[in-house]
Amino acid sequence: MDKTEWNRRPITERHVQALWYDGTLRPPRLRTTDGTSVHVVDPGAWNVEAGPDFRHAVLEVGAERQRIVGDVEIHLHAADWRAHGHAADPDYARVVAHVTWYAASPGRTQDGLRDRCLRICLGDFIRKRPDFSPDEIDLAAYPYARLPATPRPCEPLFARDPDLLLAVLRQAGIRRLELKARRLKTVFARTQDRAQAFYAETLAAFGYKQNAAAFRRLADRLPWSELPATREAALASLSCVAEMVVARAVSWRRANVRPANSIERRLAAAAALFAGTCPSLLVRLDACDLATRGGQQAACDVLCASRLLGKRRAAAILANVLVPLAYAEGRIDRIPDEILPEETNAVVRLTAFRLLGRDHNPALYAGNGLFLQGLLQIHRDFCLAAHPDCDRCDLLQLAAAPAPHRQATPKDN
Ligand code: SF4
Repeated sequence: MDKTEWNRRPITERHVQALWYDGTLRPPRLRTTDGTSVHVVDPGAWNVEAGPDFRHAVLEVGAERQRIVGDVEIHLHAADWRAHGHAADPDYARVVAHVTWYAASPGRTQDGLRDRCLRICLGDFIRKRPDFSPDEIDLAAYPYARLPATPRPCEPLFARDPDLLLAVLRQAGIRRLELKARRLKTVFARTQDRAQAFYAETLAAFGYKQNAAAFRRLADRLPWSELPATREAALASLSCVAEMVVARAVSWRRANVRPANSIERRLAAAAALFAGTCPSLLVRLDACDLATRGGQQAACDVLCASRLLGKRRAAAILANVLVPLAYAEGRIDRIPDEILPEETNAVVRLTAFRLLGRDHNPALYAGNGLFLQGLLQIHRDFCLAAHPDCDRCDLLQLAAAPAPHRQATPKDN
């Protein structure tokens, strides 16, 4: 297959991600664009959230095999690093390798990367292989179906003991919501403005992980007390500040967002929910007993009244804002064992695959929002920190202790 034929084929960034991630596809010997040898000990964890494509990669570089640990960003073109504004984004400060399909154009030396960042043009290696076609990469199989064939240490344990799994998920979920409650308390103490804190946290929950920071900044730049009282005027103000003020400091992430979850739709929902109502909205929500399923449903109904917010997003606000708020203020004396479930997201799915294997039944956890929160916390506390090979994971020891997640706190903050 010659270069011309390769160039006609639709190589996408996801192809390059798969080629980097999968050791059976990735060329065994790589070099940087200046000729230094690179051995991939671990390609890193496939990052399904905002930020670099792979976290915590381990590379050995040069004849001395100097070990480098950090993140890896993938693009089609070398110039994309600069074009996507990563140079100024603190999320990308730990990137140690920029892996591309195409090398930089001749004469283009200013790519915006730090000097020590490795530049690897994967396309240069793959295009030399006559036996390979991008059509053979099953893109849908990444990253979940291509988890290592060896089960993670937690998988057989949880397969043998589903009750232990549920106990661990519950503890992890409680820990997550208690941490959120603690953070909310700190925010109240600092701002002395309960309605504003609620407004800011709710907007952040509107934005999913990708746009949470941008929505938080929007709430800061346009406080609820300055929102116009009518829905139309509030939407105009929110849209204007989002575009003219927030976008200058934080980029709105629009890639891979379904139309129903678009930023514009979220802004419309925010306008409908908060225009002229923030304190009275809080009064209505405070009246719901979140310790009970009926009370949780009533709170979600209040949030969904405008019909611009779906049931699952309302449940996300319930779990991420309302329950921690009620706990922080003592309106409930404990985090409820059951919370209406929000939609699963990529991190939940990835963690569930790691803990429970490829063929597990999502019904095990998807019906309880506390279990979903637990999966997110396990990802953060254990899977991220223990990578690679789960070798530094102490979840199993903690699972054997009476109250595993509450007692040991790898990242208590
Ligand atoms: S790091 Fe994650 S997948 Fe590995 S053993 Fe620990 S909990 Fe399981």
